[in-house]
Amino acid sequence: MDIKVEKVSKSKIDSIDFGNLGFGKYFTDHMFMCNYSEGKWKNFTIKPFENFSISPASKVFHYGQAVFEGMKAYKDINDNIYLFRPKENYKRLNKSALRLDMPEISEEIFMEGLMQLLRMEKEWIPKDGQKSLYVRPFMIANDNLLSAVSSTEYIFCIIFSPVGEYFSGEVKLKVEDKYSRVAFGGLGMAKAAGNYAASFMPAKKASLEGFSQVIWTDDLNHEYIEEVGAMNIMFRMGDKLVTPPIDNGRILEGVTRDSILVLAKDMGIDVEVRPITVKEIFDSKESKGKLLECFGVGTAAVVSQVKSITYKDKTIEFNNESDYGTKLKEKIIKIQTNLEEDKYGWRVKI
Ligand SMILES: *Cc1c(COP(=O)(O)O)cnc(C)c1O
Repeated sequence: MDIKVEKVSKSKIDSIDFGNLGFGKYFTDHMFMCNYSEGKWKNFTIKPFENFSISPASKVFHYGQAVFEGMKAYKDINDNIYLFRPKENYKRLNKSALRLDMPEISEEIFMEGLMQLLRMEKEWIPKDGQKSLYVRPFMIANDNLLSAVSSTEYIFCIIFSPVGEYFSGEVKLKVEDKYSRVAFGGLGMAKAAGNYAASFMPAKKASLEGFSQVIWTDDLNHEYIEEVGAMNIMFRMGDKLVTPPIDNGRILEGVTRDSILVLAKDMGIDVEVRPITVKEIFDSKESKGKLLECFGVGTAAVVSQVKSITYKDKTIEFNNESDYGTKLKEKIIKIQTNLEEDKYGWRVKI
C-alpha cells in the first residue's frame, strides 16, 4: 500500500498551549485520507490538516451516512508510542459501516494509515500521564446525488487531537424516561454520528435542569438501564460489578467496558453481565444499601465516577468512598501508558 505524503512547511505545535488542551479543540499538523469509488479504496494520502471541499449535495449532509471511532495514543517515559487495542476499533468501524451500508475498510489501510500518521505526529503525543493524543478515524458518504439510497462514494479520514484529562466535575445523572438515543433494530451497536445527534437535545434539557448527563434506558418502557451519555455504565452492588449485556444491539460495545470487565475479574471482583432495571437500583439503594458505586466507562474519560442519579422525584447519592471505579481506572491507565506489565497483549507499540 502506497501512501503519498505531503508535509506542512512549518508545524503549528509551538502555538498550542499544552497546559490547557481541553478535549478535541486542537488538531495536529497532518491527517490521513483516502476515498472510495468504483468499489475500491484509493488515493491514500497523508497531508496537511485542512478543510475538505465537498459538494453541498454530498449525501453525508442529507442522509447522515457517517460513522467514526475514538481511541488514544500514549507515550511512555522513554518516548515509546502505544495504542490500546486498536484492532478492536478497526473491527468496530467496519461493524458500524456495515450497519449503515457503507463499505468496509481493510485492516492494512486502517492500521498503516494510522501508524504512519502517528509516527509523523509523535511530537504531538503528550508524555504526561494525564494527557494523550486522541485518535479520530471517521467515514462519510460523498455521492453528489440527492437520491435517498446508499452512497457509492466515501471518504475515510483520520485526524488527531492532543487532549487533556477529561474533567467532568461532579457527575449528576438523570434517568431519561422520555427520549431515546437508539431503538431496537436501530443503530445502537454502531458508532454512528446520528446516535449522537439524537442524544444532544435530551442531554441539553437535562443540563438545563442541573444534570451532567442522562442515563439512557430502553425505548419501550424506559425500564432497563443501557448507557450513560456516550459511555457504557457499570454499578457496584455489594462486592459485585454489574453491567448490562450488549447483545440487544442497542448498546455500543465499548473497548473500555470489555477491558474493565477483564481487569475486574483478574482483580478478584465478581462480574455480572445482566439486564439492570431502574427500579432495581433505586430499591437496592434504599432498602439494603447494596448499591455502592456507579461509573461510566469509555475512551475519553476512561472511568467517570457518578455522584447522584435522579429518577422523577427520587435521587440517590453515592458517597464515593467505595472505590472499584478508582482502582480499575488506575489499573487500565497503567497498562495503557506502559507503567505496568500488559499480560493481555492490549498495548500495541508503534
Ligand atoms: C464510543 C462509545 C462508548 C465507549 O466505547 P470505548 O470503545 O470504550 O471508547 C460507549 N457508548 C457509546 C454510545 C459510544 O459511542
